[in-house]
Amino acid sequence: MSFKNSEKLYKEGLVHLVGAVNSPVRAFASVGGNPLFIQKAKGSKIVDVDSNRYIDLVLSYGPMILGHKHKTVQKAIKKALKNGYTFGASTKNEIKLAKIVCDAFPGMDKVRFVNSGTEAVLSALRLARAFTGKDKIIKFAGCYHGHSDALLVAAGSGLATLSIPGSKGVPNDAVKNTLIAEYNNLESVKRQIEEHKDIAAIIIEPVGGNMGVVIPQDNFLKKLSVLAKENGILLIADEVMTGFRSKFGGAQELFDVEADITCLGKVIGGGFPVGAYGARNEIMEMVSPLGDMYQAGTLSGNPIAMASGIATLKELKSQDPYQKFDEIGDKIEGFLLNSAKKYGVDVVVNRFGSMINPFFTNVKVEDFTTAQTSDTEKFGVFFWEMIKKGIFLPPSQFEAWFLCSVLSEQDLDIIKNAIDASMKKVSKM
Ligand SMILES: *Cc1c(COP(=O)(O)O)cnc(C)c1O
Repeated sequence: MSFKNSEKLYKEGLVHLVGAVNSPVRAFASVGGNPLFIQKAKGSKIVDVDSNRYIDLVLSYGPMILGHKHKTVQKAIKKALKNGYTFGASTKNEIKLAKIVCDAFPGMDKVRFVNSGTEAVLSALRLARAFTGKDKIIKFAGCYHGHSDALLVAAGSGLATLSIPGSKGVPNDAVKNTLIAEYNNLESVKRQIEEHKDIAAIIIEPVGGNMGVVIPQDNFLKKLSVLAKENGILLIADEVMTGFRSKFGGAQELFDVEADITCLGKVIGGGFPVGAYGARNEIMEMVSPLGDMYQAGTLSGNPIAMASGIATLKELKSQDPYQKFDEIGDKIEGFLLNSAKKYGVDVVVNRFGSMINPFFTNVKVEDFTTAQTSDTEKFGVFFWEMIKKGIFLPPSQFEAWFLCSVLSEQDLDIIKNAIDASMKKVSKM
């Protein structure tokens, strides 16, 4: 297997791009080696610039839930392109996508489209602060909510529970209102609420996806929402990753909670840059131009992106692949656990809908601390063997693998054999 062209492009890319990438996880820093450059993709397959073909379990970190270049989505995009690219004025498709999204989330009367998950979340925080008149927020260690200043604390880095910035360039002042709690640990939230009076919001990934997949245990979300309500604190569900992932709509509904504000991204753009935040009327009416919370965007609600989002969600609704995701996820979990057992490798698998990933540990993974018990060196070896066997995985232990609705039985056989070979390799370390 040759990576010659990727290596060449990587060297060229280093000159004018930072690390030859436009988002750090693409850099392969945590698995070693050079990043792959991609040429094209279709369905469940992705092809690199050396013409190596892989089954794609990255799917652009989630958006390509229908597989690449789905016919009906492509048709919608082509149709939209004919009318022009952006107008700086409203279009009918914005109303259409807003209706589809609001209908799928019981607690959402109105939505505002933006251009990324980062933007959705930072706007949702501003909105929660505007609505409550309070400044502080609670986030959970290991949850990632985009790269805005206030949220780059304990965001899947090693900074665990301290309110210190997780990046250079973030002023201490920008995170002084960010309080940290532990995922699946209600007591840690209660402690913060007892110590701090002016908490505007608790923000959470309903299912953790950025420390690897972490599932809420023992009614954690329900208890959290009750606790928030009792204390006049808004609950923000960051469903940028989980939205439309395990059902048509949000993960919050599966856990019987209704967030005050919901953030979306990834799937709702079908591969184009779209984020969104939405809430009940009372809250959304704070947003400019109806209210005094300012938030704007030159390309927000972009017509091409809206067309892609509408087509993707419509197709998802009609395909209803969620049971299939469960079945495939169950199979892949089986492959991982069986091979791990066969070769005597400690592996724990967490999954939710079309998100799944193994941790190389023997500890039950239910928060950031336990996620970090995973042996990332083993993951690195596993990763490269999977690449060699034709499976494109996210190049980090702490990213979920994503499933698309066009994965075939044949794909699953290839995945099974690749997992077996890779686990064997890990056992020989
Ligand atoms: C990906 C992600 C974001 C950030 O979205 P971008 O589009 O990358 O800015 C925020 N929150 C969660 C939960 C995510 O998974």
